Order: sequence, then structure tokens, then C-alpha cells
Amino acid sequence: MRKVLLIVLALVIILPIVIVVARSATPVVNLTNPINVIGQATPIGVRVSDPRGLRSASATVEQNGASYQVWQMTQPVKAKESTFNFTAGVRTTPQLKDGKAKLIVEAASADLLHRSARIEQDVTVVTRPPTVSVDSEQHYIYIGMADLATFDVSGSYTAAGVRVGDQSFRAWPMPGGKPGMFSLFAFAWNMPQTTIPVVFASNGAGNDVTSPITVVFPKKEQPHYTVHQLQISDQFMQKVLGELDPNGSGDPVARFVKINSEMRKSNNKTLADLRFKTADRFLFSQPFQRQPHSQAEATFADLRHYIYQGKEIDQQVHLGYDLAVTQHVGVQASNDGRVVWAAPLGIYGNCIVVDHGYGLQTIYGHLSHIDVHEGDVVKRGQVMGQSGMTGMAGGDHIHFAMQLDGVQIDPKEWWDPHWIQDHIARRVELPGFHP
Ligand SMILES: [Zn+2]
Repeated sequence: MRKVLLIVLALVIILPIVIVVARSATPVVNLTNPINVIGQATPIGVRVSDPRGLRSASATVEQNGASYQVWQMTQPVKAKESTFNFTAGVRTTPQLKDGKAKLIVEAASADLLHRSARIEQDVTVVTRPPTVSVDSEQHYIYIGMADLATFDVSGSYTAAGVRVGDQSFRAWPMPGGKPGMFSLFAFAWNMPQTTIPVVFASNGAGNDVTSPITVVFPKKEQPHYTVHQLQISDQFMQKVLGELDPNGSGDPVARFVKINSEMRKSNNKTLADLRFKTADRFLFSQPFQRQPHSQAEATFADLRHYIYQGKEIDQQVHLGYDLAVTQHVGVQASNDGRVVWAAPLGIYGNCIVVDHGYGLQTIYGHLSHIDVHEGDVVKRGQVMGQSGMTGMAGGDHIHFAMQLDGVQIDPKEWWDPHWIQDHIARRVELPGFHP
């Protein structure tokens, strides 16, 4: 009898607890987009998931010991997952001041225990947009080439630089501790010629300011890119397929075109992403060097029509110089720098990329052998490997190219000491440079 009573008692007391605990849940709170800055009215998205729905949710901004509610859920929700969008900023919370603050989001489950979750995010309150003032110089723009602009940015900003169309080039503090900023920027070979480069600064709170650079676009002196017909032999096609698509099957022409277009695109993306592996100073002090005694078999931005058995099968633009000397010649670093890539890279074959600082990098393709490693410091003229014909190359040569913040540019100006003096060294300190 007593035993039965105990069991009944246990059921009456413990079972409800077990049920409550089993049916309870803790909400999971996330921001739908990263928030680091709060400005006038910064959009904030919050995603909350809870199998039992939500009883309440709110967001507050804490600053200097005060707490301001910036949003509150109006009524409980039953959904397992909810997304809430609201704005926070000075427009609705005028008490906020420029400086550090905390964004806090809290949510309580609709379960019986009202379990809650809370996330905290450090933010910076920025009440005013940044301002930019650009140098008053005239910048001569040539397609496929680079230039340098100096400017000042004041106020709070999270990103600044030069924007040309949809491409942007980072701002760097002036070398030598001088005031102001500068950007090396490129006017890409395929950029619409009416594009005006601008200096921009944004503070991540929706405050984006731009100021145009004064440009001169000498129409008659723009480079004229050449057009070539490239005859594809069966031998070359088999070489390329055997090397770059060894396990492929099907129509050889389709496979070749896929390598030439899709693999090229992907390889160029890999190259462009190396922009983030760059030094925040000039690693060189001399003009760039062209591979000694080399013959240019192809130049920058040549348009190539690929002809196979009398028919055009593809078109591509060649974004570098094909420099031929003799077979297996020592491939020399064009300037002082640091190796940021030393490995096979698709159509470029065995490939080396050397960083020279501020997003400026040189590329060497089709090597038969690489003698440097990623991270190595190299000197101008140093042999880094041997030329060859790996990748999409029909004969022994060096594919030499240059990129600036991931945009491939014509290297020829960088071979010219007077151009470097006029466009770079005159505007920013380039220690040790003598034209
Ligand atoms: Zn090439």
C-alpha cells in the first residue's frame, strides 16, 4: 500500500517536471548580417529559432552605462523560426554618441520555463559620414594601365580607396609617416572609357561618400590592342587535354573550350584573390625588369581567335606578355618582393606570383620547374625557376603578367623608370628609388 502511494506521489511530482523540461527549449539568436557600425538608421536583421516559438524578443543598445531599447517584438509567435528586421541609430535614439557601444538581442522561448538567450555585439556609433578630399592633380588615364592618387579621409570610416566602375583599390596610409592616404589604381583594359575614377570612403553604416578624381583621357594615345588568329593543331589540343583534363571524355573541342574559358576564369580568380596577401609597404626600390634578352611573342590584351580545322572555336583576351628566350632559361624575379604563390595553376602551368607591396604583384607562368616557395623573399633578377611549356603553352616561354589589387594591368609602364618617377615616386615616398 505504501509502495503504491510512493509511486503515485512520484508520478504526480516528477512527471510534470519531466514534461516541462522535455517540452522546453532555448532559443537560438543570430544576426542575419554582420553589424559593426551603427549610424543614422542602420538596418539590422535578427533570426531566432525555437521549436516552441517565442514569448518575447527585443534589442537594446548600451552605451556609457545607459541602455536604450531599439526594438521589441509586438506579440508572441508560434513559428519555429522567425526573422525580424528593424533599424537602430541616431535617428530613433538621439542620445547615442560617436564611439563604442553594445548591441544586445534577447529572446525568450514560449515554452513553460521561458528559457531565454542573449547575444552581445560590440559596435561603433558613427553619427556623421566621413569626408574625402582628393589631390588637385590631373591624372592621365590609359586603358589597361595604372596610376596613383593621393587624398585625405576624415571622420570615421571602415573602407576607403579609389573606385573605378565596379572595381575598388584599397587606400593605404602615406609611407614615411606623412599625413594622408594614397591608392594605386588601375583602369582595366575592358573598362568603359567614360568611367570616372572616384575616391570613396564608407563607414559601414550606409554613409558612403565619393569624390571624382580629375582625369585626362588622351583619346588618340590610348593603346590599340592587337587581334590574332591562333591555329590550334591536334597536337596542341591533345597536349592541353592530356595535361589539364586527363580524365575527361567526350568532344575534345568542347573540353578544350571549357579549359580555355572556365578554367581560365577560375585561375584568374585565384590570382585576383592573392591581392589580400600583400605587404603594406613598397618592397621594391628600382624599376621592374623585363626578362633579359627576351622576345615578346604576345603582348598585353591581345585578342585571340582560336581556330581549329578552319573554324573559330573560342575567343579570349591574353592579359600578359609571352617572353621567349631559350628553352629552360632561368626565370628572373622582375623586382624585389615576396613569393605569394609557387605551385601549378591550371592554364598557367607551374606558376609563381611575387608580391611587391600595396597590392602590386607579378605573375610568371608555364615554368618547367619552380625553385622558390611561398613566403620566400626574392631579389630583382633572382632566378626563381626554369621556363617551360606547362599549362596552356605550345612552346617554351614565360607568361609574364602584372596585377594591381587583383586587376591585371599592362606591365610595360613599370619597366620604365621615368614613368615610375612621374606617377609614383613624385607622389609618395619610394625609398631608395633613383630614376
Ligand atoms: Zn601568355
